[in-house]
Order: sequence, then structure tokens, then C-alpha cells
Amino acid sequence: MTLSDDELDRYARHIALPQVGGAGQLRLKAARVAVVGAGGIGAAVIPALAGAGIGQMTIIDGDRVELSNLQRQSIYNSGQVGMAKARLASHFVMARNPYVALTSVDERIDADNAADLLAGHDLVIDGTDNFATRLVVSDTCVALGLPLLSAAAQQFQGQVALFRARPCYRCFVGDAFDADDCDTCADLGVLGALTATVGSFAALLAIRAITGIGDNAAGTLHLFDGLTLSWRQLRISSEPTCRACGQLSPAPSDPS
Ligand SMILES: [Zn+2]
Repeated sequence: MTLSDDELDRYARHIALPQVGGAGQLRLKAARVAVVGAGGIGAAVIPALAGAGIGQMTIIDGDRVELSNLQRQSIYNSGQVGMAKARLASHFVMARNPYVALTSVDERIDADNAADLLAGHDLVIDGTDNFATRLVVSDTCVALGLPLLSAAAQQFQGQVALFRARPCYRCFVGDAFDADDCDTCADLGVLGALTATVGSFAALLAIRAITGIGDNAAGTLHLFDGLTLSWRQLRISSEPTCRACGQLSPAPSDPS
């Protein structure tokens, strides 16, 4: 795999970074990333990864654009209300960077289709907004051995964590939410700029993990408070009885 002259120009500000360089840019080009959810988080993650030159991206979302999405989902516009998000997000990426190979899936991910949709990727980014879906995505990533970057935002709080096998997202939230498919954003509200902040942070973690920049240890929860403007980190414990990852060994402290 090589970079064309056009790509060398396009990614010049990346390649100028000693931590990225041509080798890091080739890792981004070789990466296959699935983005589950093209809502508030996805609308920040998707443009950042497209601009960064992720080679293959799958965008999975069964929703249509609603007027109330436009307050935070900046890849959509007023004339697109009612249209399928997965397709619109894919068109956005194609216009932004023709070097990204795209697959758009206009379906809601669930326990029946998750393994088929996620297999074959190097990283899964979950920006969906309900626990039931997030647990399905997490359990599937554990079963397939895929790293999962999970990001969520509501009201003024954001959280982002990278999981590799064990501990997993289910260790973090437990089993109580499998039937909880409510739309937490709709129930509780969310500041539009918060989803962009959290989504951009998730994209930063994704790029770090793919290129191997810095410490990308899994199992750390990054919490952002939009009221106090503070970030803090918490270690997530492996639950001995976790039904998704309980039989696995803990992830090494530096999995990169
Ligand atoms: Zn677990």
C-alpha cells in the first residue's frame, strides 16, 4: 500500500507530525472502521475520520433525519429531514474524501445482524444513544475479538472509553439495561456542542489507537463535564461474572 501524490498533499499536516508520518498515514489508510450510529456522536466522528483518511468506513444507522437532530448533527441540513442518515452520512464522506471506501447500512443494528455487520473491521465506534443497542454492540465486539470505542453524551456529560476484550462495556453498565431502548437524548436533552466535543474526542482516541500514538490502554473511562469544563479518568473494573467477557483474560495494560 502506498500514498499517491494527491494523498501526500491531502494528509500533509498529518505526515508532518513525527508521531504519524507516512507510516501512520498508511495505517489509517489500511484501517477498517465501523461507526454505529450517525447521530450526535457519529456526526462528529465521521467527518474527523473521513478527513484523517481512514481507508474503509462502514456507517450503520437505521434512522431518518429529524428536525430536532439539526441542533447538534452538523453533517445534515434542513433540506434532508426525513432522509436516511446512513446514506446521507456516506455521501458527506464521499464529498469530503474520495479515498475513503464506504459501506452504508440503513438498518438498526441488533442481536440478529450485529455479528454480520461488524465482522471484518479493525475498530468499532459506538455512538448510539440507548443501552440495549450499546450492549448488543459490545457483546458482539467481545465475541468477535474487536476493539470497541464507546462514546456517549447527554445533558452536559460526556463519556468515552476504549475496550479491548476485558473489561467490556457490560462490565461497566451491568445487565440491567438490556431491555432499555429509550432514547436518552430525547428524554433528558443534550447540549449540541457537547456531542461535537465528545465525538471529536472519540475520533482522537480512534486515530491514536490506529496509529499507535501515545498510551492507548483499554478500560479507562474519560468523563467530560460541560458545566465545570473538566475531564477526568476512571479505571473500569473487570466484572468476574460478566456474561460477555467473564471467561476471558484481562487485556494487557498496553495493548497497542
Ligand atoms: Zn465484561
